[in-house]
Amino acid sequence: MERTLAIIKPDAVRNNNIGNIIAMIQAAGFKVLGCKLTRISKEQAGEFYAVHKERPFYGELVNFMSSGPIVPIALEKENAIADYRTLIGATDPAEAAEGTIRKNYATSKGENAVHGSDSVENGRNEIAFFFAESELIANSK
Ligand code: UDP
Ligand code: MG
Repeated sequence: MERTLAIIKPDAVRNNNIGNIIAMIQAAGFKVLGCKLTRISKEQAGEFYAVHKERPFYGELVNFMSSGPIVPIALEKENAIADYRTLIGATDPAEAAEGTIRKNYATSKGENAVHGSDSVENGRNEIAFFFAESELIANSK
């Protein structure tokens, strides 16, 4: 079993798409291990996206991710990292395949509805950013 971190981003929360997005995730066979409605500060958003620090969109991304409530969700499934990336589609919704979460609910390349981990190791670290392991094991059987 593999784990990945999904985040429903502030645009999708503002657009009342929490339920729609979780329905797509569950229909695709992912098990929800942890889920919370929360907010992160600019500092926390900057830390979460530190890998993109030198990119031109970093400031905008940090402002956006701290602009309102978000829903981090710890997910489990065989092949979770790759399967969840397929489910969300390309970063830019204009390039996302039909039937993907970003095609359905993203607003723009920056405000693109959901986050997804890009490797097993990053998934583990990103889940730990939002959840204590004790919050997840209760749901893991
Ligand atoms: N992003 C952006 N402009 C870009 C590329 C990325 O605003 O040209 C934002 C977007 O919100 C994206 C996030 O930065 O989801 C992280 O970028 P990454 O390349 O890791 O895309 P992802 O893994 O989310 O598809
Ligand atoms: Mg990424």
